[in-house]
Amino acid sequence: MFEKFDVVVVGAGLGGLSAAATLVKSGQKVLLLEKHYRAGGYAGSFVRGRFEFDIALHQISGLDLVGKRGFLYRNLESLGVTKRVEFVRLLNVYRSVFPDLDITLPVGRESAEGVLLDTFPKESEGITRFLDRVEATSRALGMLQRGAGSEEEKKYVKENFFAYKDKTLAEVLNGDVGDPKARAVIAQIFAYFGLPPSRVSYLIYALGWGDYLRYGGAQVKGTSQMLANAFVDIVQEMDGEVRFNCGVKKILTRGGRVTGVVTEKGEKIEAPYVISNVNPITTCAQMIGVDKCPDSFFKALQTKEIAIGSCCVYMGLDAPHGELGISDFEIFINSSYDFESFWDRLKTSVEPADFGLACYNLAYQDASPPGTSIVVLTTTSYAEPWYKVSPAEYVETKNRVADIMLERTEKIFPGIRKHIEVIEVSTPLTNMRYTGNPGGSIYGWPYSPKESIMYRLPQEGPFKGLFFAGAWTQIGGGFQPCIMSGLMAAQRVISELTKK
Ligand SMILES: Cc1cc2nc3c(=O)[nH]c(=O)nc-3n(C[C@H](O)[C@H](O)[C@H](O)COP(=O)(O)OP(=O)(O)OC[C@H]3O[C@@H](n4cnc5c(N)ncnc54)[C@H](O)[C@@H]3O)c2cc1C
Repeated sequence: MFEKFDVVVVGAGLGGLSAAATLVKSGQKVLLLEKHYRAGGYAGSFVRGRFEFDIALHQISGLDLVGKRGFLYRNLESLGVTKRVEFVRLLNVYRSVFPDLDITLPVGRESAEGVLLDTFPKESEGITRFLDRVEATSRALGMLQRGAGSEEEKKYVKENFFAYKDKTLAEVLNGDVGDPKARAVIAQIFAYFGLPPSRVSYLIYALGWGDYLRYGGAQVKGTSQMLANAFVDIVQEMDGEVRFNCGVKKILTRGGRVTGVVTEKGEKIEAPYVISNVNPITTCAQMIGVDKCPDSFFKALQTKEIAIGSCCVYMGLDAPHGELGISDFEIFINSSYDFESFWDRLKTSVEPADFGLACYNLAYQDASPPGTSIVVLTTTSYAEPWYKVSPAEYVETKNRVADIMLERTEKIFPGIRKHIEVIEVSTPLTNMRYTGNPGGSIYGWPYSPKESIMYRLPQEGPFKGLFFAGAWTQIGGGFQPCIMSGLMAAQRVISELTKK
């Protein structure tokens, strides 16, 4: 006897979790299969000594915790997530440290604009024009989400959203703001989107940066594992089934449609719908089989670039952050205003780029035991140069990379090193090992204009009944987009099942 479900969801990353929760809520019989022993993929935690580290999360967008509540918040609320998870609003967008400038952008258009204009008075007109533009782009997205019914709204959306679909951040920002220093401060979180200003999509940057600026980003109290676990609880409470340590080996197809899955343990499970939260390359090449996938679909996947991975230095410190002089949650430590020059080097060298320092106790005080603090240094890193490091040299190499980042951190926070109680270093290879994402990519495909929004891989897979959820598909990588992608994949399945 084979087991039968309406939908099997493969992978309990954010995309898979939100898909499964949405499906059980609409009454479908759902099985969620996860290879790892815990849910969340990147959205999770690990423990070293007396410290619990968030693997990934710096800021979630889309919540608007003190205003009308953002689009993501409303969706999480309707699933029952918000009553199980405590989100904490961050007060500053970020602090940027350059060799000759130290500037903190507070949350709120007026406050942030005030700081920018005080620092760059000669650029005031251009900065205000750029901020207006970003605001108009966000408003246009809101209209799109509500259906943009009237002719006036359609025109607004065309001029403030679709007109930018092929533009990079630099193309738009450089037209408004002349001073490279002001541009760098505005473009500071380009690394959140995994490409430098000359290559990252303006739309993606404007929507993400604009959201953090207007509403403030958020953290999850107790690490993002709490968010992942909340989704699991919801699925289980509504009679969905979740199995951990249960990787999927094969997705079965017959006559152009999926028919079920086979687990790594050899169990065969029948289902007319499969949502894969596993990257589409592995889904098609290994789980379905290259010979079975339409040639054009697989070739298109092969020609795409893979987005950047990360290298993190997780530190549990035996001193409170105040004693170390750390007073901001997120601090970017820059060697120059030129974010372009080091980018290409990252394809060939493990040498760390500029990086961000996040101190979790500044999001919520009890992120670590009393008298201690958690600090994580994060930089972007491609897997290619790490592939060339021999296993014998791997640990030494990642420790050297951590050492370089620590040395630069010590220039701003002297003495931090002697307070390290535990330290762990991750690389793109760590990301690959724990999530299976090619290249340790944290966003699927890179957020270039060609891979953003409507150009991104659609949710529908190359077989009837197969859908994708997560960073590699619409609407993209990151907490908010991945959660939304799961909702969207689930809604596609629900609408097909309802038609039947
Ligand atoms: C260091 C770092 C910092 C980040 N910071 C932020 C941030 O501040 N804000 C933000 O919005 N985003 C951030 N991100 C990005 C964000 O975390 C990811 O884009 C997002 O979590 C990816 O979710 P996903 O749904 O694609 O699933 P993934 O996290 O990729 O998870 C995929 C899941 O599938 C499982 N799986 C794989 N193969 C199988 C199989 N064969 N069978 C069953 N299960 C399988 C894996 O075990 C995993 O659980 C960061 C990421 C990293 C790494």
